[in-house]
Amino acid sequence: MELVLTDFLDRAVALYGKKQAIIDQDGIAHTYEEVNTRVQRLSHGLESLGVTHGDRVAYLAPNTLEMFEGFYGVFQTGATMVSLNTRLKPEDYRYILDHSGSKVLFVDYELVPLIEPIIEQLETVEHIIVHGRTEEENGMSGYETWLKRFPESPFPRADVKENDTATLLYTSGTTGNPKGVMLTHRNNYLHALSIQHHLRVSDRDTLIHILPMFHVNGWGSPFYYTANGATQVMQKKVIPEEILEKAEKYNATVMHMAPTVLNGVISKYHETKPKVPENMRLVIAGSAPPKAFVKEIEEEIGWEFYQVYGMTESSPLSTASYISTEEDDLQGDEYYEAKAKAGLEVIGTKVRVVDETGEEVKKDGTEVGEIIVKGPGVMKGYWRNEEETNRTIQNGWLYTGDMGTIDRHGRVAITDRKKDIIISGGENISSIEVESVFYDHPDIQEAAVIALPHEKWGETPHAIIVLKEGTSLSEDDVIHFSREKLAHFKCPTSVTFVEELPKTASGKIQKVKLRNLVGDKQ
Ligand code: ATP
Ligand code: MG
Repeated sequence: MELVLTDFLDRAVALYGKKQAIIDQDGIAHTYEEVNTRVQRLSHGLESLGVTHGDRVAYLAPNTLEMFEGFYGVFQTGATMVSLNTRLKPEDYRYILDHSGSKVLFVDYELVPLIEPIIEQLETVEHIIVHGRTEEENGMSGYETWLKRFPESPFPRADVKENDTATLLYTSGTTGNPKGVMLTHRNNYLHALSIQHHLRVSDRDTLIHILPMFHVNGWGSPFYYTANGATQVMQKKVIPEEILEKAEKYNATVMHMAPTVLNGVISKYHETKPKVPENMRLVIAGSAPPKAFVKEIEEEIGWEFYQVYGMTESSPLSTASYISTEEDDLQGDEYYEAKAKAGLEVIGTKVRVVDETGEEVKKDGTEVGEIIVKGPGVMKGYWRNEEETNRTIQNGWLYTGDMGTIDRHGRVAITDRKKDIIISGGENISSIEVESVFYDHPDIQEAAVIALPHEKWGETPHAIIVLKEGTSLSEDDVIHFSREKLAHFKCPTSVTFVEELPKTASGKIQKVKLRNLVGDKQ
């Protein structure tokens, strides 16, 4: 049997057809059967536009019902879903749409201005369809009117093979130009099976889609929550201050999010001590929070917390910070420290940490090397970029460009991106380690540390700080604070204060852009 993603919606319809599948962005509930009817119409519609097996169909939309059904409608035709980040510039869309060779573009009516300036220049897009609820709303004949023209009868499926590309996702561009990552049906399918196991997803779950689905398919959540018949709540905008309210309203059980969003949720919790959703059982974030933070979530608020680690190129998740029974001796602070690391490899994935010669580093939790990953989640390659594919995947191992350590239990901790390591006086300094110290300061909202050139030391750490509202700190205060906590060679020698840090659409700090903020300090 070929492992094809359309199985997941078929299963949900067969087993949970009458269940609330999607609460859409307007708060309207749709059952799995109803969503499936819309998906069939969509596939017929795509066929009428000439979309066939192997074509690319692009989506520019936040988390909506229309975006969700797009995945399954596109997969039924055998085409590839190209989901576009909603925070790019018109020129970026032109590049990705042309580079991917997308034939059709669906765009949310609120995002039309983003593509208007480049519509005339697009080389391959033949049709643009605007998502909008009513004609009054978007002032043009949009998606709903178009969809109704097609039958709701089952769509005759294309002969999709598991190694066909299901999704073509462009990386966040944290380190430079985004690259087109080809994930096959098999990649996404086996990743989904592995992650749903670790997160213990079931039909009793309600997920608020906080991570954008355009970003590596919201870590695969439209796949494994669907396969298990869970309820999924769509929202167009993520406002951290409103997440708890929303979770309470829909009795959510799970939330996946970027660390910066989680920060906002916790601050809100502190301010108002709202009623927390009764059935919330698990909160997952994709980066390293300080251990005090984890303790607070687990002990004070009472949710289980996982950190996960991954990248677009690996579908994305490779590790999760669950605790194995081999580690039952982890108590108190040690337990929270372990939970605040990237974690143990997920089922089906092998994770190794290697030095420059390719030898595995000592499994003692201190020796740093590059993290490499092998498994069914590893991409087919970069679209139209063989050279970069061959550089990144060697003998089936994906070279992540992330540096980290591994301990005797196999627990991985990320220390830095290879490109962001600061080398000062011949010593390697992990920017993440220095940043995490600042998150323990009561007046600091966010912190990033980058390398600045230094005459004597080669490079020196520089801190970029966002203060909490109504607080003030001087450059000396910040430096002094770090010197109390860290070896002196790791401490920033200068500080820039800013209102906010430049971030990608998935909430990650863009270190490349930070360097421009520092200006004449360089
Ligand atoms: P680009 O490759 O275009 O520069 P990107 O790497 O930011 O963009 P993604 O694939 O979205 O694009 O992000 C994956 C990266 O995010 C990882 O390689 C890693 O550097 C970082 N990351 C993911 N999870 C964690 C984590 N738990 N802790 C620290 N960093 C993480
Ligand atoms: Mg990357």
